[in-house]
Amino acid sequence: MAAPVPDFRLLFEHAPAPYLVLEPDFTIVGVSEAYLAATMTTRAGIVGRNLFDVFPDNPAEVDATGVSNLRASLQRVIATLAPDTMAVQKYDIPRPDGQGFEERHWSPINTPVVQDGTLRYIVHRVEDVTAFARAALGRGGMPNGAEHLERQTSGLERELFQRAQELQRTNESLRTLHAELEGRVAKTTGELAREADARQRTEHELKRSEEQLRQAQKLEAVGRLAAGIAHDFNNLLSVVLSYAEELLFDLPVDSPSRRDALEIQRAGERAAELTRQLLVFSRQQVLMPKILDLNDVLSGLHRMLGRVLGEDIELAMLPAALLGQVNADPGQLEQVVMNLVVNARDAMPDGGKLTIATSNVDLDEVYAREHLGVEPGRYVMLSVSDTGIGMDKATQARLFEPFFTTKGPGRGTGLGLSTVFGIIKQSRGSIWVYSEPGQGSTFKIYLPRVDAAAERPMVATATAGGSETILLVEDEPQVRVVVQRALERAGYQVLVAQDANDALRLNAAVASIDLLLTDVVMPQMNGRELSERVRAARPGIRVLFTSGYTDDAILRHGVLDQGVPFLQKPITPASLMRSVRETLDA
Ligand code: ADP
Ligand code: MG
Repeated sequence: MAAPVPDFRLLFEHAPAPYLVLEPDFTIVGVSEAYLAATMTTRAGIVGRNLFDVFPDNPAEVDATGVSNLRASLQRVIATLAPDTMAVQKYDIPRPDGQGFEERHWSPINTPVVQDGTLRYIVHRVEDVTAFARAALGRGGMPNGAEHLERQTSGLERELFQRAQELQRTNESLRTLHAELEGRVAKTTGELAREADARQRTEHELKRSEEQLRQAQKLEAVGRLAAGIAHDFNNLLSVVLSYAEELLFDLPVDSPSRRDALEIQRAGERAAELTRQLLVFSRQQVLMPKILDLNDVLSGLHRMLGRVLGEDIELAMLPAALLGQVNADPGQLEQVVMNLVVNARDAMPDGGKLTIATSNVDLDEVYAREHLGVEPGRYVMLSVSDTGIGMDKATQARLFEPFFTTKGPGRGTGLGLSTVFGIIKQSRGSIWVYSEPGQGSTFKIYLPRVDAAAERPMVATATAGGSETILLVEDEPQVRVVVQRALERAGYQVLVAQDANDALRLNAAVASIDLLLTDVVMPQMNGRELSERVRAARPGIRVLFTSGYTDDAILRHGVLDQGVPFLQKPITPASLMRSVRETLDA
């Protein structure tokens, strides 16, 4: 008795994987339910039609490559009669209601069905890897807790993902090149050389990408370490500086201890400056960005630069006419220019020429491909070139690391360029160096161009005291005490809370409070949430935030919302007075 024959069509159509069966001219002749579900199509709607009529490229996406990649893969199957595995493809699916396309990423395999040496069908099997690809591209809706981590890694991962796809494209073109060459009877030496050249270029590009990535990862790790240290130091230095100032205030003018107290204060200020630079490098610094014209920043610095450079160095300023605006912190940009100029001076001990230029530039895809972390677009470029001693590749590789210096003890801190790097990165820009030993150096900085009018500079306000009531919230006991004392000395009424709950209790119990002065990062409830709760009960209250670092929603990306008053730690009595008064008078 013959074995019962199963219903193969039924089996195929209910196979638990998305399959599509094509004739060699790409007419769809079979499809599994799983495929229909994944692509939001119906059997009646697609069988008998051409694959590429059913699934065209998303017209909203100008550089869509899904169709051409799939076509190339199918052609390879036809040519070689061998299965072809494709890289992960972005191939958007038209919505059944005709309302645009849905973003999808696929991992496809195309397999030939050959009978008697003739290709009968091609089985197209896919896996929907959209969720994975989204996560890899850093666009997935991740839970809140993972967001911080995601911010830090997604940039690098995105790069890697893009690099992988680029590599795939390059391989593709190499494969085509190869096939063409093989098809000819005689290869000319020229063609061989070109092929080798292309291969070498690919390898070279890959090596450079890897190097840039390693460099970026190292700086990222050092930055996290530096941020942690700087955070703790800021609290300690707030205490040191405040007590030193109190001592100076209390000691009689002729006391011999005054000199000692002054030394403590000076050392504390130097330490605060180093801490600040570390924070800048690790991009935990709170920026106060404005829309501004880089040429204005430069012309404000011109005289000081002349003095820094001395007489043996010629200074040439080449500002572009009609320079675009950038969104950056003007004080920080001044520091960028100063640090570059001081380095250039040090590189020209026997004199030379320093050129500072600005220009509008459009960075294209090619540039972006060769420079890790750069997106194509419109930028403002600042370049600083010197005719000094230049540097070798080993120095260039470590240039931006904190504490890397080739200058003798006491001559360099190694924090100049790490500070520059941090500021530029945090301003969403990039920095590149071009140099050869003995040939001078050029630093190029690109900042994204914005289309808006520049703001007028702010007018500084006085640092007087006052008599208003301030609710002070700070979880670090020593900082709490010094801030309270400084405020009371200036005449303010101070209510002290050690955490948010404490503050809410006081807020409910007290009739009048003019200002909430709160730390941002606190256990239980952060400063922002606290301020919202207090504001709900007291709509008119002013709020001043303070923090040693910026790991919080309000300071996401390390950039404070424009107009939110913020006091950066370490707190000194002077900075405290100024910020409190400004916030109350605003
Ligand atoms: P520092 O100036 O304190 O040494 P930086 O971070 O500013 O620290 O610079 C790090 C190192 O980079 C310098 O010690 C020097 O070797 C090199 N460097 C920076 N700028 C230049 C330049 N314009 N020409 C030559 N070398 C430079
Ligand atoms: Mg320096």
